[in-house]
Amino acid sequence: MALRLFNTLSRSVQEFVPLDPAGRHVGLYCCGPTVHDFAHIGNFRTFVFADLVRRHLQGKGFAVRHVMNITDVEDKIIKRVAETKMSLQQYTSQYETAFFEEFQALGCLRPHQTPHATDHIADIIGLIEKLTERGLAYRTADGSVYFSIEKYQAGGARYGQLVHLNFEQMRPGERVANDEYAKEAVADFALWKARAATDGAVFWPSPWGEGRPGWHIECSAMSMKMLGASFDLHLGGEDLIFPHHEDEIAQSEGAGAQEAGRPFVKYWMHGAHLLVEGKKMSKSLGNFFTLRDLFRQGFTGREIRCALLQAHYRESFNFTVKGLHDARTSLARLDECLGKLRDASGGSTGPAEDGLAAQFSAALDEDFNISGAWGAIFEWVRENNRLLDSGQITSARAASALAAWEKIDSVLALGRVNENEMPAELQALLDERQAARKAKDFKRSDAIRDELKAKGWVIEDTPKGARLKKI
Ligand SMILES: [Zn+2]
Repeated sequence: MALRLFNTLSRSVQEFVPLDPAGRHVGLYCCGPTVHDFAHIGNFRTFVFADLVRRHLQGKGFAVRHVMNITDVEDKIIKRVAETKMSLQQYTSQYETAFFEEFQALGCLRPHQTPHATDHIADIIGLIEKLTERGLAYRTADGSVYFSIEKYQAGGARYGQLVHLNFEQMRPGERVANDEYAKEAVADFALWKARAATDGAVFWPSPWGEGRPGWHIECSAMSMKMLGASFDLHLGGEDLIFPHHEDEIAQSEGAGAQEAGRPFVKYWMHGAHLLVEGKKMSKSLGNFFTLRDLFRQGFTGREIRCALLQAHYRESFNFTVKGLHDARTSLARLDECLGKLRDASGGSTGPAEDGLAAQFSAALDEDFNISGAWGAIFEWVRENNRLLDSGQITSARAASALAAWEKIDSVLALGRVNENEMPAELQALLDERQAARKAKDFKRSDAIRDELKAKGWVIEDTPKGARLKKI
């Protein structure tokens, strides 16, 4: 069955047909994290959604090439680098490492390429030069370079492909940053930002003077370098539609590298935003969750992934602690059923039964109808439980049910209980041991160490804190 998805570009559900004439290769780009701090649960909703898209495409036999950028230079990072007196690389690498640990804990497949903006300054400069040559970019007196929307539109291109824009409403009064006063038009955006005194050591030479790239241009330069001037899928959170993605289209199509009639990106998919306990997430409301906050509360990556996969990607999602507990309950039901099927199979293997995998895949083919997919899963659990309870299941049937589960779990990635995943009560013990050490209560801290050892775990003290390792 063909995959149908909602394309923000056409504002409609369309059949997915890759650009590859052979219909096999798919290029997928998802805007990655800005590594200025720990990523929050809203960021991870987008990455889990992108992972679901990739895994489903792979499950359908497509050869997916997945690229995700790492934004390792921008205003917030520069500010923090100055405050902490660390080097840019030192500062960003600690958050990048944490990001990928959490990404992996959520069962997300690592993208094939994760280019860093700072490793691609030459590509970015090359693209800005191209836009300058084509008359679409101009340098201001301070040495910044801007994209001219007026010139772009004068050439017949459309700015506002993803959103309808009202240029009348973009009044000069809305100019806020000092460095933007030199722009010719208020809607123009920076491709290159001239070095400011507050930038410290964060700058690169360029034909326009020392400075650093704007955020939008990095995604255009790196996505086209890795996936070609036209590619199939571009994903991101809906907050990126404007201006980030609109600007990516303008820059990439403005540079004119595409073959005639081909767009920069064929399908744009956007995940809706996430609320926490019904409210917009904010540090001041105390409902701002990073993954490590949730791990500390005893939730596992598997439970968080399961909770994030409850809602359709285009619906705003209300993330709650109750939702995490519900995910834990659902997973326990699933694990119990899978455990019984394993016992009933007696270790035998067999071909996957048709029903579950076909229904699951058909649901995802309808613009990633995850509710339909869950419906099929829990109907399957009920049916298997009924057969198991009445002793009607043969080892061959149990084996083929398990094979079907394995097939869909290559997409869902909820796995079986990971034996290396630390149970919540152990994390609580580890936290208590850390507190005891801090209070110099070494008797208690040693007692906890022994208790953990008796449970099969050893404490490793690392520069990033203590963690447990299975003995
Ligand atoms: Zn981007």
